[in-house]
Amino acid sequence: MSRSPRVIVVGAGIAGITTAHVLIRRGFTDVTIVEKGDAVGGVWHWNRYPGLTCDVPSNLYQFGFAPKPDWERLFATGPQIKQYLNDVVDSLGLRAKLLLNAEVTSAVFGDDEWTVTIADGRTMTADFVVMATGLLHHPRVPDIRGLESFGGPVVHSARWDDDLRIRGQRIAVIGSGSTGVQLLTALNGEASQVLHFARSPQWVMWAPMELRQPRLLTALLTRSPAVRSWLYRALLAGSGFLADVTTVPSWRRQLLQRFARLSLCVQVRDQALREQLTPDYEPMCKRQVLSSGYYRALQSVSAELITERIDEVTPTGIRTSDGVHHRVDMIVLATGFHSHDYMRPMQLRGRRGIRIEDVWADGPRAYRTIAIPGLPNLFTVLGPNSPTGSISLQYTAERTAEAIADWLDRFAVGEFGSIEVTASATDDFMKEVNDAMGSTVWATGCDSWYLTPRGDVDLWPYDRATLAAMLAEHRDDHFVFTAPRQPGGSSKVGEPQ
Ligand code: NAP
Repeated sequence: MSRSPRVIVVGAGIAGITTAHVLIRRGFTDVTIVEKGDAVGGVWHWNRYPGLTCDVPSNLYQFGFAPKPDWERLFATGPQIKQYLNDVVDSLGLRAKLLLNAEVTSAVFGDDEWTVTIADGRTMTADFVVMATGLLHHPRVPDIRGLESFGGPVVHSARWDDDLRIRGQRIAVIGSGSTGVQLLTALNGEASQVLHFARSPQWVMWAPMELRQPRLLTALLTRSPAVRSWLYRALLAGSGFLADVTTVPSWRRQLLQRFARLSLCVQVRDQALREQLTPDYEPMCKRQVLSSGYYRALQSVSAELITERIDEVTPTGIRTSDGVHHRVDMIVLATGFHSHDYMRPMQLRGRRGIRIEDVWADGPRAYRTIAIPGLPNLFTVLGPNSPTGSISLQYTAERTAEAIADWLDRFAVGEFGSIEVTASATDDFMKEVNDAMGSTVWATGCDSWYLTPRGDVDLWPYDRATLAAMLAEHRDDHFVFTAPRQPGGSSKVGEPQ
């Protein structure tokens, strides 16, 4: 028996692009990528705020299968990455597989196939659904008294409006994560005054974020595929340092933490300001912020740091808990995301109608990041416990997609009709992961978007080799299978119901 599985990939960001490419490379051509936005890129499509820069080196923040030799900077800007992702989609021929402006509102499993419904009412059927929906997607709008009464624009960083007037404005930036730090630094040049509301300042490690890629390197990478491949592999191996320092308590971790403290001490000489900027937790406990210009910007006459809690927003500004009213013309919310919502709020129903809300009643859980009990023939790429804080996303997505392709190989030859991970294998994995989390820097006592509402760290506590090995291993005893049904149609889009 040989059949071609029909696959729907939800999301056209890094995870979705990788999955579609890997599956097609492995010979599975009945793939449709469904994307709710009007362009590919995921976070790099939705985010376009001033100063948006990737803090992972460009030559690592790329697909292993689509190296770009001519990055302009060592750390690419948001628009440059978005362009790269678009170019990759075109050069790999994925555009024809894309359905844009198509938000999936529900996915329901029955009779060994998925029925996926799009917001406009169209339906599609498929043998497999791959959720590549990302995690930093749903903007978190803080519950601050009076926010809706503000007279000027209020914008979340991930919904930036290019028509907003910046020049000459007094702007409040709320939030001190990577986004708030980048925004403060970028707006500081143009606005008349930028007020940074940072209720819990973060460690901001210095890094040469604006350095251009040397011309010699570009020439070498352009001419020599061998150098290109060597550099990528070297950077991937080098990034093992990050997995090491985050997951293993050691002198290496302490050394890097010392550098974070030094970054503050060297760049901020004023004792009072330095104290105000000193976090009360260990460096790297939250997602580490990198910047070359934040502290300098903050010390300029047009910037102000406010660490007092926000009491309320008034029609003309922000009142802090010390009673001071800060007049501003515009409020920028760099307040992060509902980072554990994954594919929700779509309605997701698996075997016997089980809902994702029931499976995840205690928070997101997946077997080895890739499969969820109760949801047969559904895989997640960069799902729960993915190594978003320590290992290359592109590498992880590719390994995960390869693992999915392995299952599709077995489906194609008629080994099974549906495959579903067992609850016990998932529980065992979650216990193992949560136990291992104890030695990570993320569990050293800080509040961060890595923590689920239950307080678990939603990250990967092991190294890259362990990730690759776990994804590549087929443990049939961890899954239940049903016998194959007769081959179905193809994953064509149906008429609205
Ligand atoms: P974030 O790290 O979750 O930070 C949210 C900020 O908003 C925190 O400072 C938080 O303060 C503050 N906040 C939330 N509610 C608030 C309230 N009611 N009042 C005052 N402050 C409030 O979000 P993010 O900066 O958008 O970054 C999220 C992640 O996106 C990053 O960690 C990173 O992984 C990714 N990112 C990456 C890049 C890159 O260069 N690659 C750039 C931007 C973002 P508390 O800490 O006190 O809660």
